[in-house]
Amino acid sequence: MTIVLNPDGVSIAGCTLIYAPKTQALEYAPLACNPYRGCGHGCAYCYVPLVTKQDRREFDEGAVPRKNFIHRFLGEAAKYQAAGITEQVLLSFSTDPYHPGNTERTEWVLEKLIEHGLAFCTLTKGGTRALANINLFRPDRDAFAATLTTLDDAFSRKWERNAALPADRIAALKAFHERGIFTWVSLEPTLDVEASLSIVDATHEFVDLYKVGRANYLKAITTTIDWESYTLHMIDRLHAVGAKHYIKKDLQSYLPVNYPNPLRIPQRH
Ligand code: SF4
Repeated sequence: MTIVLNPDGVSIAGCTLIYAPKTQALEYAPLACNPYRGCGHGCAYCYVPLVTKQDRREFDEGAVPRKNFIHRFLGEAAKYQAAGITEQVLLSFSTDPYHPGNTERTEWVLEKLIEHGLAFCTLTKGGTRALANINLFRPDRDAFAATLTTLDDAFSRKWERNAALPADRIAALKAFHERGIFTWVSLEPTLDVEASLSIVDATHEFVDLYKVGRANYLKAITTTIDWESYTLHMIDRLHAVGAKHYIKKDLQSYLPVNYPNPLRIPQRH
């Protein structure tokens, strides 16, 4: 068993189900797991089919549990346990752990991560669907995160047609916060500057951390937003409400010189 030292964490060579993400995803988590293939949320901006070379229609039809997963997952979890690695594993980058279909596989994965000494974080647009598993989350180990692009239902339906509506995602964040679980919000993609700034105003009382990114692969948006102005406005707003934050690499060139922007803020209480 070879333990790989990543810039900010560790993983085990050869493990592909509990793995160290690369490039942009690495900014979100040192370890990740994708228990499904596909995702039924149908986000218009989703780049997963493009990056993973999946047929978009098939991907949008819904999430299905990955084949040959259970035995391999248990083998990999055992390796992490034997190596004494206890970091958070993020679910998920190439699917959503609380997609609109059957999410029993998510519950099984969380239970097995606990049994093998690993912590976890779920990142979802499934809103209160995640409450089905709230009892598994441990305040001193785990985290709950939601992606928010807007507070407006019509805008959300246009871009994330089958995802939970913003108010439902916010209700889930509040519920996890009230249980003492660390919460964070992914402000990525940014589709509308004012919408992202308003999300901070509306949620900072029950959100522990914001991760801020831009839009990629969306020419109509990437070329019309002034990203420098957005970055500066966003950090002002985050400072005004005293919110912890991480500005992703795509926006870091717009930050003031020597701006403190630690990659890994502990995501637990
Ligand atoms: S929730 Fe995530 S994985 Fe699912 S379609 Fe939307 S962007 Fe893609």
